[in-house]
Amino acid sequence: MTSLSGKTDIDWAAFAAALAPVETITEPVLIKKRSRDFFWYSPILNAELKRCFGDLVARPASADELAHVLSVAYAHNAPIVLRGGGTGNYGQSVPMDGGLIIDTTAMNKVLEIGEGWVRSEAGALMADINVALAASGQEMAMFPSTQDIATVGGFVAGGSAGIGSIANGALRDPGNIISLGVMTVEDRPQNRRFDGADALHIHHAWGLNGVITDVTLRTVPRHDWVGCIATFDSYEGTYATGLAIAQSTDIARKLLTTVDARICAYCPKLEGHIRPDKHLLVSMIPTEDRDAFRTLIETHGGHVDLMMTDSEREGAGLPHVYDFSYNHTTLQVLKADRTATYQQVGCPIPPDPQAIKALRPKLGDDVWMHHEFARVGGDIVTFDLPIIWFSSAERLAEINAIYEANGFPVYDAHTWNVEGGGLKPDYTHLAWKKRMDPKGLLNAAKSRFWADVAHLDADEIEALGRA
Ligand SMILES: Cc1cc2nc3c(=O)[nH]c(=O)nc-3n(C[C@H](O)[C@H](O)[C@H](O)COP(=O)(O)OP(=O)(O)OC[C@H]3O[C@@H](n4cnc5c(N)ncnc54)[C@H](O)[C@@H]3O)c2cc1C
Repeated sequence: MTSLSGKTDIDWAAFAAALAPVETITEPVLIKKRSRDFFWYSPILNAELKRCFGDLVARPASADELAHVLSVAYAHNAPIVLRGGGTGNYGQSVPMDGGLIIDTTAMNKVLEIGEGWVRSEAGALMADINVALAASGQEMAMFPSTQDIATVGGFVAGGSAGIGSIANGALRDPGNIISLGVMTVEDRPQNRRFDGADALHIHHAWGLNGVITDVTLRTVPRHDWVGCIATFDSYEGTYATGLAIAQSTDIARKLLTTVDARICAYCPKLEGHIRPDKHLLVSMIPTEDRDAFRTLIETHGGHVDLMMTDSEREGAGLPHVYDFSYNHTTLQVLKADRTATYQQVGCPIPPDPQAIKALRPKLGDDVWMHHEFARVGGDIVTFDLPIIWFSSAERLAEINAIYEANGFPVYDAHTWNVEGGGLKPDYTHLAWKKRMDPKGLLNAAKSRFWADVAHLDADEIEALGRA
């Protein structure tokens, strides 16, 4: 077998034979498919990443099989990229150096459910974990809007927050990640456990500092949720109402999203269910809070257009309301027009509807706002995932500059480095990379700083963070 990536000189046929009895995928077309994630949301990333391929896919079905795969990769000095559902947006699971892709989706068991927690293998789908929890009267504290294809290991390694975060915080908030089982990449891979705050050594490191084998996440008591869409005349009025619900003591909430009216034209499934040309407040609230919700919306000059339980929604042939939230909002537009893209923008804390109102005219007609409400570190925060009609990298930079100049920090979605646009190195993550992956085989290209510190020992790397 020659190298599909063109970047490795490993004998991949011999490598695949050494992996037996682990399932492997050798067909180039399938390897190429598993070399992609949702980086194509960004025209910039699409140009940079679309020709990066791995050389072989391994699909271990147990921790023992995974250990065997890692040991063979270690012996061959093979670059390794972990892959769950492949729904990341920044090329997190794209094999930049070629090499081995480890697909975790056969390690998919929900292992144990307790009061307030669930432990699953890393390749378990978030949606399957939610289904398994239902019988115990619980649900995930949060899940990404991609839950049908995203794995729990991919969420912890690559994600940050999701549906439920307005109630229960971000993944990194204390108590949300309870424990991680993580395997080293060595001749004889070892299992290590990261409990409580130590799990942050591995969380959001994009799989470059250890292979997550199992994840214990916080669960919360289950509610009967209704999906709601309310409509408003002004965007800042929509945002102000979202804030009022986020602060309410009468209305519980699992999702609060505001969507610019112009985006609604790209959501044909909502036609006939919402008033045209209005801004949307998309939310999930418990059935028992329906009346209080309706009263609050009307007091704020809005109108409740849609309020459905899951069975009513299914009967009406509608998708979940969270299909119009997080990066699914972007997806609705991209399905119709691939010239759209998006950005990730922070907002002043506490949220300020007047700041949103003042910013809107400065941005131009090629930026359509969409805000998510979440609770992070105990504070109510919002972030903007606007649709941007991409014309050039220069115009994108100009839009970023307008946001920044007005006090809205940009967390660039158009870079494939774990450190993001302009962010500092995370020396704790890199020190753990040295401990867990001494040869630096795991997704090393994704860190701009790894090559600078790879020659140091782990404690020396960690000390750089204290300097
Ligand atoms: C439409 C859309 C909506 C989205 N909504 C959300 C959202 O609401 N919230 C959110 O946080 N994100 C969201 N995302 C991003 C992404 O879907 C989530 O972060 C998701 O949880 C990633 O899971 P995955 O299994 O697809 O991971 P992958 O994309 O397969 O992997 C993500 C990263 O984790 C690493 N990884 C995977 N498995 C392991 C493992 N076992 N050990 C170590 N590293 C591993 C990979 O190498 C990669 O770096 C969205 C993306 C899209 C396209």
